[in-house]
Amino acid sequence: MSARILVVDDLAPNLHFLEVKLAAHYYDVLTATSGVEALEIADNQIVDLILLDAMMPGMSGFEVCKRLKSNPQTWHIPVVMVTALEESRDRIRGLEAGADDFITKPIDDFNLMARVKSLLRLKMVTDQLLSHTGNTIERSKPVLDELSQRAGNILIVDDNERKMEFLAKSLKANNNIAMETDPVVALKKAIRADLTIVSLISEKFDGLRFCARLRSEARTRDLPILAIGQVDDEARLVRAYDIGINDTLMRPIEAQELVARVSTQLKRKFYADNLKENFNESLEMVVTDPLTGIGNRRYMDRSIAPLFAQLSDTGSPFSLVVFDVDKFKRVNDMLGHDVGDKVLQEVAARLATNVRSIDVLSRYGGEEFIVAMPDTKQEDAMMAADRIRALLGGSTIKVGRKAINVTISAGVAEVFDGDHFRDVFKRADDALYRAKQNGRDRVEAAIIKKAA
Ligand code: GH3
Ligand code: MG
Ligand code: MG
Repeated sequence: MSARILVVDDLAPNLHFLEVKLAAHYYDVLTATSGVEALEIADNQIVDLILLDAMMPGMSGFEVCKRLKSNPQTWHIPVVMVTALEESRDRIRGLEAGADDFITKPIDDFNLMARVKSLLRLKMVTDQLLSHTGNTIERSKPVLDELSQRAGNILIVDDNERKMEFLAKSLKANNNIAMETDPVVALKKAIRADLTIVSLISEKFDGLRFCARLRSEARTRDLPILAIGQVDDEARLVRAYDIGINDTLMRPIEAQELVARVSTQLKRKFYADNLKENFNESLEMVVTDPLTGIGNRRYMDRSIAPLFAQLSDTGSPFSLVVFDVDKFKRVNDMLGHDVGDKVLQEVAARLATNVRSIDVLSRYGGEEFIVAMPDTKQEDAMMAADRIRALLGGSTIKVGRKAINVTISAGVAEVFDGDHFRDVFKRADDALYRAKQNGRDRVEAAIIKKAA
């Protein structure tokens, strides 16, 4: 679905002008001719961005913006204030009302599309974050507010110290600022930055090349770049967008615009970081056994698939060991389920410290653990399994003041080309059954039937 942009202006020709421009870029456009109508639409329809005329009869754009930003249904929709005058007083009022950016009439195409794209990207990340928290828009507000108010590490790169000082002055109240005139040093500093502001009109270094370097390095590939350009050098800015910069600012730089753009870029960065963290966490949760912290059955199924592929591609052998705690039911029955849990945690920890880093360990069932051993033939897997068995039963497990004797048994089977997991698991499990029959605290190998 294409993004939906609400355009608000009391004058029909202005509305029409923006409607045509935006529709040409395949955005869905909604229009309103008054503040009241705008609030009504934003409240009841899906809107991704609002272009809001500041000067309207009746309710002014500033008032509309204030209401949008304090309404639980609409506070997360980015607002661009459209001001007629080159007056910083209007912009200050706009920022105070909660506007996300500004654009001045007469509207320049390049600047319009830059504002729209940057803020729609922010809206997209905001929506993803809202849907991930699984909360209502209203309840997610504190989380997003916290992220928005975070201080950013901003790196300014320019050959002119005085101009950098000017930028720093407007930003340092809420952020940590670093300034650099040497692009080589700046590349290193950028690794720790949340945002970099790069002058494309430096004389001492090529700003475009610097941006390209940032994009080609893995550690700065996603670092937001705000490029400073000149109105009469649009070609350079177009190239900068091709390289992958995120937003632009035109000289002479106007403080409120600077603050607004920086804030949008930092928000997007912090929202995206938060999304990534949550995503990685939930991915990990899916494959981790909560009791013991080692991989679960799903982790094993996933990790073992490449080993099967390797076996059939390169003939590289691997074996499976199924471990099962001996008489574990007795631990539960005599000492309680909680102690049983502690014992399982310690068994998992001992297994984890005694397998190789390439081995794949998982808790496959209640008190059953499976280890897949790459590059290991059955004989070697037998020796490894027996070493682990001896280590595990070799010292008691202490839970509180109790010292518990715990032993494990194991069945070992090498995987044959053409095997499915269930085939090799069955052979290892049969071997485990024999280990139990033969007295426990021992390891048995699968019986290899020679082909006729
Ligand atoms: P064997 O030597 O034949 O393996 O005897 P066993 O008692 O270990 O065998 P069995 O499979 O009958 O019992 C396993 C027990 O493990 C039963 C089950 O309640 C317990 N169990 C499974 N998962 C958990 C768990 O997460 N925590 C605790 N405390 N106990 C568990
Ligand atoms: Mg058991
Ligand atoms: Mg069992």
